[in-house]
Amino acid sequence: MTSRKRSAVKKQREEFEAGFGSLDSLFERAEQGMSALEAKREGAYRAKSCDRKNRYDTKLDAQDAIARSADRGVRGLTCYKCEFCGGWHLTSHGR
Ligand SMILES: [Zn+2]
Repeated sequence: MTSRKRSAVKKQREEFEAGFGSLDSLFERAEQGMSALEAKREGAYRAKSCDRKNRYDTKLDAQDAIARSADRGVRGLTCYKCEFCGGWHLTSHGR
């Protein structure tokens, strides 16, 4: 009786330790999931800051567009050099 109980405990312990083993790979998967999320976020950032915006070849073109927007009453626009396409975009969030 006793020995059977002990082996049951041993089995539980083995399962517990095996659980730890799979916990490691769980963390690994979590890390991979994290970088996949970051990649997704990066893609969303690019879409928001580059792909969906008008692109100007030079800063002068961008500043010209800002001036034309100001004529139409759109104020507070700034331009920035895009890290993705190397062109210039306008934003209203800059200071
Ligand atoms: Zn861009």
